[in-house]
Formats: sequence, structure tokens, C-alpha cells
Amino acid sequence: MDPNTILLIFSFIFGAVVGSFLNVCIYRLPNDISLVFPSSHCTSCKKPIPFYHNIPIISYLVLGGRCYNCREKYSWDYPLVEFLAGLLSLLLFIKYGPTINFVFLFIFVMALIVITFIDLEHMIIPNVISYPGVVVGLIYSALITDYDSLRFLLDNIHYNFLYILYVLDEVRILSSVFGAIIGAGSLLLIGFAYKNVRKMDGLGLGDVKLMAMVGAFLGWRSIIFVALISSLIGTIIGIGIMLRNKGDLKYAIPFGPFISFAATLYCFCGDLSLDYFID
Ligand SMILES: [Zn+2]
Repeated sequence: MDPNTILLIFSFIFGAVVGSFLNVCIYRLPNDISLVFPSSHCTSCKKPIPFYHNIPIISYLVLGGRCYNCREKYSWDYPLVEFLAGLLSLLLFIKYGPTINFVFLFIFVMALIVITFIDLEHMIIPNVISYPGVVVGLIYSALITDYDSLRFLLDNIHYNFLYILYVLDEVRILSSVFGAIIGAGSLLLIGFAYKNVRKMDGLGLGDVKLMAMVGAFLGWRSIIFVALISSLIGTIIGIGIMLRNKGDLKYAIPFGPFISFAATLYCFCGDLSLDYFID
């Protein structure tokens, strides 16, 4: 097999193995259980799951989605998360190759998977993901910033709107700081509009912090895309659910999955204008 194919297969397997850990996070974080102790065990009979019954995707298929010991049926979410993590890892590797961008966008997308599944189940976005997410996003942006161009732009600074916008596009770390701020701000605005239309709180502060994390990782331009796409999909699905419930407006839907979906999409088709591709 040629080395390229091996790398691609490895990137999928690596993602799926991480996906297995994401399942642990998705189950334990909202329930305040340590991520490390106890080791993986059946949530029904409490028996530890040996490593050979804990192989991503494969174990679920081999055991027919049941516990090897008590035969309790497991949720489809487990293999789905593992497959999704593997697939996104593979796609990121195809797009970015073995670069620092792959490393950080991988962390970003894996965090979005955890956020999506926790928000779907519990309607919360844990601060233990979004706060460090903002910090890691800014570290990433600081690493890929072209500081020579920052110095040049500061030496030749003009105080007009277009020039400042140009600097925000050229200097990644500034774009990300600005992105985190308008990300949180835009979500507060959407939340305010939503509250007035539906006469209820639809968006939580968790969504605001998530949007700040998106801005920190992807820069300010991503916020326009993510805000538009996520509210569009959210509106379509919201209307669908409303029609099914015969006009009952009091059915809350989590917004985190829509933001996560749009942000993931932006990693593949958005203009990330990465200053440096560091190999
Ligand atoms: Zn069991």
C-alpha cells in the first residue's frame, strides 16, 4: 500500500479512537463524573469493559449493540460519534495534511462533537469545554499569525475603517480576538430577537460562549457565515417541529448543534486565510 493511503487510513482510525474517548466525555461531563476513573464500564451492570470489547465501531457491530455481559442494549450514539470523529479526522487530514492547522482544527471539531451531543441530550454547553476552547483557539491563531506583516501594518497605520478591516483580515490573531468578541455579540443579538419573536428564552449563555470559541479558532469572517447558516437551519428545523406539534411554540430546541455544524462546514469550505501553513 502506498504511504499516502496508510496515512489516510491511520487518520480515520485515530479519529475513531478519539471518538471513543469523546463518548466518555459526552456521558460523564454533564453528570460530573471523572473522565479518568473509573475506567470504561457498562452503565447498566457496572462491569468494566475489557479493551478487546472496546474497539471503536467494530465492537458495537460485533456485539450487536449490546453489553457483552448483561446484554443491555446500547444507544446508536456510541458508534455514530466514533464514526463521525473518524470521518472528520480523515477529511481534515485530506484538506490540511500534517500541519499545525490539522492539529488545532482537529481539537476544535472534536470539541464540537462533544458539545453537539451533550446539548442534544441535556440542553447545556459545558463551560469546561467552551472556556478552554476560547483560549486554545487564540493560541492557535497566535501560532499561525504572520508577525512581520503585523509589524509592517502597525508601522504604516491609518486610522480609517477600511484600513482597520484590512488589518483584521491580514493579522490572524487580531481577527480571532475580534471574532471572539463579535461572535459572542452576534449571538446575544440573535438571542434577543428570538426572545421577542417566540416570547421565551431560546438561547442560553452557553451558545454565546460557543460562538466566542468559534471566532477564536476561525477568525472574524467565520462569524458571519456561522451566524447565518446556523440560524437558517435552526429556523427551518424549528418550523418543522412547530408544524409537527401543531403550532405549539413552547418546544425548545438546542442551538449548539447548528452552530457546531456550520463551524465544521466552515473548516472545509470557508476562507480561513491561514497566514502560515506550518509543516
Ligand atoms: Zn452490562
